[in-house]
Amino acid sequence: MNPSQKLLKLLREVKRICVLTGAGISAESGIPTFRSEDGIWKKFKPEELASMDAFLKNSELVWEWYQMRRKVVREAEPNAGHLALVELEKSCPSFTLVTQNVDGLHRRAGNSNILELHGNIERSYCIECHFEENDPEEARLKCLKCGGKMRPGVVWFGEALPETTFLEAERAASDCELFFCIGTSAVVFPAAALPEIAQRNGAYLVEVNLEPTELTPLCDESFHGKAGEILPKLLSSDFL
Ligand code: NAD
Ligand code: ZN
Repeated sequence: MNPSQKLLKLLREVKRICVLTGAGISAESGIPTFRSEDGIWKKFKPEELASMDAFLKNSELVWEWYQMRRKVVREAEPNAGHLALVELEKSCPSFTLVTQNVDGLHRRAGNSNILELHGNIERSYCIECHFEENDPEEARLKCLKCGGKMRPGVVWFGEALPETTFLEAERAASDCELFFCIGTSAVVFPAAALPEIAQRNGAYLVEVNLEPTELTPLCDESFHGKAGEILPKLLSSDFL
């Protein structure tokens, strides 16, 4: 790993940093990305489970999949990559962490300025009366208030992102001087637009991913390997 002098100087000096994370940053906590998921669920593509159509057609199956994922998330702990981002937030006057993850691990790690673009798997709400349940232990398919169906509080395929949250993410991307794209294949729009917005507005664009992505050619600098190894090294005092 060989960060440029320019990046090290930026890390020491910039006042505004924006970070976009995807499923890859949680992979080392034992939470599978969709592409790596196995077992009986390999039979189903996430697109066939994470949608309103799928939920209306087979609510039990979709609910069971989310209960399995909730269990995995509950048993997981933040990893060195999450923790490095907590240190980065502490060292930077204006720091925004935009995540596509629904696992809540950034919050549990200790970051505070987090924008969850795809919601949070711990929550659920009724599709009839909008009753909300925030305690994952109480998550159930049948609404306690009206008997309607409770769905997970996440953004499904084909659904719009929460508008205000996305506007805030766009603002953070266009205002920042340094933008990190970590553990995301950067193909799911509109989140994938954020790195471009940042770069168009003058930010230095850095990618951390196991492998090259569609974003790699656009980046000013790319690091290929595990986020949990690269981030702590990059932010360590040996370099800075
Ligand atoms: P994705 O499109 O963000 O792809 C994962 C990326 O992470 C890949 O590019 C892969 O190369 C990279 N990666 C894997 N392990 C890594 C590591 N250790 N270090 C750095 N990079 C690594 O994610 P997806 O799995 O295709 O999921 C799409 C959407 O599904 C997400 O945006 C999210 O909303 C949801 N999802 C969330 C979680 C979670 O909350 N942890 C998990 C799976 C899926
Ligand atoms: Zn209800």
